This record gives sequence, structure tokens and C-alpha cells, in this order.
Amino acid sequence: MKRDRTDLYEYSRTKKRGRTLNQFMKQAIELAIQNVQEGGQPFGAVLVKENEVVAKGVNELHHTHDVTGHAEILAIRRAQEKYQTSDLSTFTMYASGFPCPMCLTAMYYAGIKEAYYCQPTEEARKQGISTRDMYQELSKANVDRELTLKELPLEPTEKNPMALWKEQREAAKRV
Ligand SMILES: [Zn+2]
Repeated sequence: MKRDRTDLYEYSRTKKRGRTLNQFMKQAIELAIQNVQEGGQPFGAVLVKENEVVAKGVNELHHTHDVTGHAEILAIRRAQEKYQTSDLSTFTMYASGFPCPMCLTAMYYAGIKEAYYCQPTEEARKQGISTRDMYQELSKANVDRELTLKELPLEPTEKNPMALWKEQREAAKRV
């Protein structure tokens, strides 16, 4: 079925109806507000397991100068450390803002199946802090990206780390 713009608006309104800020999202928003008041960026995240907040994070760029110090990444890192596992498939992420590509990818790597955000990219764009440009950049072909990424192939005489990994994995399976 084709939808025109009005239909699409109605559709998204219907989809959103019934969803309200729950206690977890309220915590994520609270963290974001607190972070801004402390001089940081407006992002907070909580990870929930069995209806309980088990890890939190805020954007810590203003403290650590670490570009990976995003709210969702830090919540993931803390949960993985706490539970000594990289598998967070039974956890739910609540992020105050629509996740950037790095955080979304980290969620995939952690196996997270369910995530919620409160403030969409449109709001972020309005306030001058959107990551939409990054999504656009990544959607381009490698040759069209701002960051040049070029292959420097292995010399035939050099060891192949990937082949070595496969070899070791297969050897371990045989034991
Ligand atoms: Zn992020």
C-alpha cells in the first residue's frame, strides 16, 4: 500500500500512540539532563534486565576526550564487565536520544534485540547535535566517503592473521 505524506504522519502517530515514557526512559532523560548541567552532552542511557536497571551511562566526552565515551557504549561496557559476558541479548536499552551509528552497531555486536529512544534525530538536528550526517556518510560507497580508506594488501610472504585464527579455531575444535 502506498502512503502519502499525511498517511505517513497518521501512521507514525498511531504507531506511537500507547507508548509513553516509562520509568526507565525517565531515568535516561534524567541522566541526560544531569550531564548537561555538569557541562556534558545531552545523552543518557540505561540498560535493563528483568525489569531492573543494571547499568547506566552518560556521554563522558567532556571528561575523558574519548570519542567512544557515548552513553549507550558506556552502559554496554559496564553491563558486560558486571556480568562478564559480551552477550546482552536479554537486555533492553533505553537511550535518551536516537543512537548514533557507533552505539547502534555496538548494540548489534552485544546482541541486544530491543531498544528505545526518546528524542529523535529531528529534535537533535533542531538543537544542532544530530548524528544524521554520520548515517548519511556511512551510507555512501567507500570511495565517496570523506575518510579515505584504502587497502594495503598483505605480501605473499607475510603471515595471514585471519588464516591463523581459523587454523587455531579448527585445531581447538579437534581437541
Ligand atoms: Zn553514540
